[in-house]
Amino acid sequence: MFRIGIGQDTHRLVAGRPLILGGVSIAFDLGAEGHSDSDALAHALIDALLGAMSDGDIGSHFPDSNPRWKDADSFDMLAHIMKRVEARGFHVVNTDATVMLERPKLREYIGSMRVNVARALSVDVDSVSVKAKTGEGLDAVGRGEAVSAIAVVSLMSKES
Ligand code: MG
Repeated sequence: MFRIGIGQDTHRLVAGRPLILGGVSIAFDLGAEGHSDSDALAHALIDALLGAMSDGDIGSHFPDSNPRWKDADSFDMLAHIMKRVEARGFHVVNTDATVMLERPKLREYIGSMRVNVARALSVDVDSVSVKAKTGEGLDAVGRGEAVSAIAVVSLMSKES
Protein backbone atom coordinates (compact mmCIF):
# COMPACT_ATOMS: atom_id res chain seq x y z
CA MET A 1 0.00 0.00 0.00
CA PHE A 2 1.23 3.48 -0.93
CA ARG A 3 0.07 6.58 0.95
CA ILE A 4 0.81 10.31 0.69
CA GLY A 5 0.34 12.97 3.36
CA ILE A 6 0.73 16.72 3.46
CA GLY A 7 1.49 18.95 6.44
CA GLN A 8 1.76 22.68 6.99
CA ASP A 9 2.76 24.79 9.98
CA THR A 10 3.26 28.45 10.82
CA HIS A 11 4.71 30.11 13.90
CA ARG A 12 4.90 33.77 14.82
CA LEU A 13 8.45 35.13 15.19
CA VAL A 14 9.08 36.85 18.53
CA ALA A 15 12.03 38.04 20.60
CA GLY A 16 13.37 35.80 23.36
CA ARG A 17 12.64 32.47 21.67
CA PRO A 18 15.00 30.09 19.82
CA LEU A 19 14.56 29.58 16.10
CA ILE A 20 14.79 25.84 15.44
CA LEU A 21 14.08 24.38 12.01
CA GLY A 22 14.59 20.75 11.11
CA GLY A 23 16.28 20.27 14.48
CA VAL A 24 18.88 22.94 13.67
CA SER A 25 19.32 26.08 15.78
CA ILE A 26 19.30 29.07 13.43
CA ALA A 27 21.35 32.11 14.48
CA PHE A 28 18.80 34.94 14.55
CA ASP A 29 17.48 37.59 16.92
CA LEU A 30 13.89 36.27 16.73
CA GLY A 31 12.49 32.82 17.39
CA ALA A 32 9.28 30.84 16.94
CA GLU A 33 6.51 31.39 19.48
CA GLY A 34 4.68 28.27 20.63
CA HIS A 35 4.10 25.51 23.17
CA SER A 36 6.96 23.17 22.18
CA ASP A 37 10.30 24.24 20.70
CA SER A 38 8.09 25.29 17.75
CA ASP A 39 10.11 23.68 14.96
CA ALA A 40 7.78 24.44 12.03
CA LEU A 41 9.49 21.94 9.72
CA ALA A 42 9.20 19.11 12.26
CA HIS A 43 5.56 20.02 12.86
CA ALA A 44 4.77 20.00 9.13
CA LEU A 45 6.43 16.57 8.87
CA ILE A 46 4.38 15.27 11.82
CA ASP A 47 1.14 16.40 10.16
CA ALA A 48 2.26 14.90 6.84
CA LEU A 49 2.91 11.51 8.51
CA LEU A 50 -0.41 11.64 10.34
CA GLY A 51 -2.17 12.72 7.16
CA ALA A 52 -0.72 9.80 5.21
CA MET A 53 -2.15 7.44 7.86
CA SER A 54 -5.48 9.35 8.25
CA ASP A 55 -4.52 9.43 11.93
CA GLY A 56 -5.62 12.87 13.09
CA ASP A 57 -3.34 15.87 13.38
CA ILE A 58 -0.60 17.29 15.58
CA GLY A 59 -3.14 19.03 17.83
CA SER A 60 -4.96 15.78 18.59
CA HIS A 61 -1.75 13.92 19.47
CA PHE A 62 0.03 16.78 21.30
CA PRO A 63 -2.61 19.06 22.84
CA ASP A 64 -1.34 22.36 24.25
CA SER A 65 -3.08 21.36 27.50
CA ASN A 66 -0.63 18.47 28.04
CA PRO A 67 2.38 19.74 30.04
CA ARG A 68 4.44 16.75 28.81
CA TRP A 69 5.00 18.57 25.52
CA LYS A 70 5.68 22.03 26.99
CA ASP A 71 8.95 23.22 25.40
CA ALA A 72 9.31 19.71 23.97
CA ASP A 73 11.98 18.87 21.43
CA SER A 74 9.85 18.53 18.29
CA PHE A 75 12.06 15.64 17.18
CA ASP A 76 10.88 13.74 20.30
CA MET A 77 7.35 14.40 19.05
CA LEU A 78 8.38 13.21 15.58
CA ALA A 79 9.87 10.03 17.11
CA HIS A 80 6.58 9.45 18.95
CA ILE A 81 4.67 9.65 15.65
CA MET A 82 7.22 7.46 13.83
CA LYS A 83 6.40 4.72 16.36
CA ARG A 84 2.79 4.93 15.15
CA VAL A 85 3.99 4.75 11.52
CA GLU A 86 5.99 1.61 12.28
CA ALA A 87 3.18 0.06 14.35
CA ARG A 88 0.93 0.39 11.30
CA GLY A 89 3.50 -1.50 9.20
CA PHE A 90 4.49 1.55 7.17
CA HIS A 91 7.91 2.95 6.34
CA VAL A 92 8.74 6.35 4.84
CA VAL A 93 9.73 6.36 1.18
CA ASN A 94 10.63 10.03 0.80
CA THR A 95 9.75 13.52 1.93
CA ASP A 96 9.86 16.89 0.22
CA ALA A 97 9.55 20.06 2.30
CA THR A 98 9.79 23.81 1.88
CA VAL A 99 10.57 26.22 4.71
CA MET A 100 9.39 29.79 4.23
CA LEU A 101 11.36 32.45 6.09
CA GLU A 102 12.24 35.97 5.01
CA ARG A 103 15.55 36.07 6.83
CA PRO A 104 18.09 34.83 7.64
CA LYS A 105 19.02 32.82 4.57
CA LEU A 106 18.80 29.10 5.37
CA ARG A 107 21.15 27.74 2.72
CA GLU A 108 23.97 26.92 5.15
CA TYR A 109 21.57 24.98 7.41
CA ILE A 110 19.78 22.86 4.82
CA GLY A 111 22.32 20.01 4.85
CA SER A 112 22.06 19.57 8.61
CA MET A 113 18.24 19.71 8.44
CA ARG A 114 18.23 16.92 5.83
CA VAL A 115 20.52 14.76 7.98
CA ASN A 116 18.30 15.27 11.05
CA VAL A 117 15.09 14.56 9.17
CA ALA A 118 16.56 11.48 7.46
CA ARG A 119 17.59 10.06 10.82
CA ALA A 120 14.16 10.77 12.33
CA LEU A 121 12.30 9.18 9.42
CA SER A 122 14.73 6.23 9.06
CA VAL A 123 15.54 7.02 5.43
CA ASP A 124 18.67 7.95 3.48
CA VAL A 125 19.51 11.63 3.16
CA ASP A 126 18.85 11.45 -0.58
CA SER A 127 15.21 10.59 0.24
CA VAL A 128 14.86 13.92 2.09
CA SER A 129 14.44 17.21 0.25
CA VAL A 130 14.37 20.49 2.18
CA LYS A 131 14.01 23.71 0.24
CA ALA A 132 13.95 27.31 1.44
CA LYS A 133 11.96 30.25 0.13
CA THR A 134 11.31 33.82 1.19
CA GLY A 135 7.94 35.55 1.07
CA GLU A 136 9.22 38.19 -1.39
CA GLY A 137 8.30 40.90 1.10
CA LEU A 138 4.63 39.89 0.98
CA ASP A 139 2.35 38.30 3.63
CA ALA A 140 3.36 37.48 7.24
CA VAL A 141 6.46 35.53 6.17
CA GLY A 142 7.50 38.28 3.81
CA ARG A 143 7.13 40.91 6.52
CA GLY A 144 9.40 38.82 8.78
CA GLU A 145 6.58 38.13 11.24
CA ALA A 146 6.35 34.36 10.77
CA VAL A 147 8.11 31.16 9.80
CA SER A 148 6.18 28.58 7.84
CA ALA A 149 6.79 25.10 6.47
CA ILE A 150 5.03 22.67 4.20
CA ALA A 151 5.90 19.00 3.71
CA VAL A 152 4.71 15.97 1.83
CA VAL A 153 5.60 12.45 2.90
CA SER A 154 5.06 9.15 1.12
CA LEU A 155 4.64 5.88 3.00
CA MET A 156 4.72 2.27 1.88
CA SER A 157 3.56 -0.87 3.63
CA LYS A 158 4.09 -4.51 2.73
CA GLU A 159 0.36 -5.29 2.79
CA SER A 160 -1.62 -4.46 -0.36
MG1 MG B 1 3.72 24.18 15.09
